[in-house]
Amino acid sequence: MVLNETHDASLQSWVASANTSSSDFPIQNLPFAVFRRTGSNEAWRGGVAIGDQVLDMAAVHQLGTAKVLGTEVQAQVEAAAQSQLNTLMAMTPAQWSALRLALSRALRAGAKEETTLKACLVPQSEVEYTVPAQVGDYTDFYTSVHHATNVGKLFRPTNPLMENYKWVPIGYHGRASSIRVSGVDFKRPNGQLKTPDADPVLKPCSRLDYELELGIYAGTANGWGDAIAIEDAENHIFGLCLLNDWSARDVQAWEYQPLGPFLSKNFATSISPWIVTLEALAPYRTAFTRPAEDPQPLPYLSSAANSERGALDVQLTVAIQTEKMRAAGEAAAQITRTSYRHAYWTMAQLIAHHTVNGCDLQPGDLLGTGTLSGPTEAEAGALLEITEGGKKPLTLPNGEARTFLLDGDAVVFTGWCEKPGAARIGFGECRATVLPARQA
Ligand code: CA
Repeated sequence: MVLNETHDASLQSWVASANTSSSDFPIQNLPFAVFRRTGSNEAWRGGVAIGDQVLDMAAVHQLGTAKVLGTEVQAQVEAAAQSQLNTLMAMTPAQWSALRLALSRALRAGAKEETTLKACLVPQSEVEYTVPAQVGDYTDFYTSVHHATNVGKLFRPTNPLMENYKWVPIGYHGRASSIRVSGVDFKRPNGQLKTPDADPVLKPCSRLDYELELGIYAGTANGWGDAIAIEDAENHIFGLCLLNDWSARDVQAWEYQPLGPFLSKNFATSISPWIVTLEALAPYRTAFTRPAEDPQPLPYLSSAANSERGALDVQLTVAIQTEKMRAAGEAAAQITRTSYRHAYWTMAQLIAHHTVNGCDLQPGDLLGTGTLSGPTEAEAGALLEITEGGKKPLTLPNGEARTFLLDGDAVVFTGWCEKPGAARIGFGECRATVLPARQA
C-alpha cells in the first residue's frame, strides 16, 4: 500500500478538534463505525470519525452524493450509510480508497463542502455505537509467541510451545453471536470447574481474564474453494479494531483438551466501535522478521512485501478500573503497554493460511489476532501471564490487588499509532465491565 495525499501529516480539517495532536481521529484517519444518538429510536447508520465528531453518512447520502462528494463514490456512500457495513466491506480496495480520498478532500480546511457537511456532524459525546457489521464468522488466532510460551508454561510446564506453533498460524473458530460493542457490560459466566481432588461442579468462573487483541475485518470475499495468495491477502482486509477475547481460565483448563477452548471463550467478545482502515495505517507498516534459528514460513506464508512491511506498529494499552476506583472518581490504571509489531504471524499470513484449504471468508468476518503480548512482563496482554496463573497478585495504584477480574472491574483497551512525520492514528477504546454471575 502506497502513501498518497490523504496521509500528508500537514493536512488540517475544518473540524477544529481533529487538528489537536492528541486526537485519535485526525483527517488522516477517517475510521468507520455504526451509530445513532444515545437513547434514541433513530436508525443505526454508518459514520466516519473526524475529531470529536461523527460524520453521519446517512445524512451525507440524503444530501445527494453527487452534490457533496462526487458521483464516483455514490455506491460507497450509499453502502456506508447502511446499518451494517458489509456492503462497503464487499467492495474493492480501489473503491474504499476513492471514498477515503473524497472524504479527505471534503473535510480539509478551506474545502467548499464545509457548509454543507457541517450539518451532517453529530458530536461523539451524544452517540452510541453497535457492532458495525453482520459478523458471519469469528476466528481467533494465537499470533504472539510470547503469549503462547507464557501460557504454555502454565498449562504444560514441560512442553510450553507445541511443535506446530512455528509452522502453522494456530487458530480456532470462535462465536460470532456473542460479539458486543465497547460499553456493553456482561455477566460473569458460569461453567464446569474441576479441582484436583473433587468432581467438577457448575459454578461462576473464578478466574475471569481478558485478552488484548486486535480484530481484523475481512473485506472482499474469496470464492468457496479458492485460496487467497499471500500477495493478494491485504486486498481482502477492510480494517482493524480493538478486541477483548474474555476468557474463563478455570473453565478453559478443564475443557480445552482435546478440541481447544469452547465455553471458556464464547460467552462474550468485546470490540471497539471504530474500524481503522488498512489504508489509514499505511505509514505504520514495519518489516516482518523471523529469528534465523526458527523455521522460515512455508512459501504460501511468505512474500517479499510481507517481509518488507507485513507487520504493523500499533501501540496498545490495558487499564483496569475497579468499582472502588470508580466510586472514588479515579481513572482506570494502566497495567500493560505493548505493540502489535511483536506478533509472530502477520495479517497477510493469517488470511493466506485461513483460505489455503478453500475456506471462504465473507465480508464482515472477524479475525482476532490472539493475545498480543510483547517480550517483557510489562507487555503481557492477559492477567494469566501478569499474575503467573494467579500466583503473583497484581497491585493497583489504590492498593487493591487482583489475580483475576472481580465483579465491577472495567477493562479498558486503547490503541494508536504515532511517529515523527506522520499523523497519529487512533483506535478509540474498547471497554466493558464485569457484572455478577447469573444464579447457577
Ligand atoms: Ca484469544
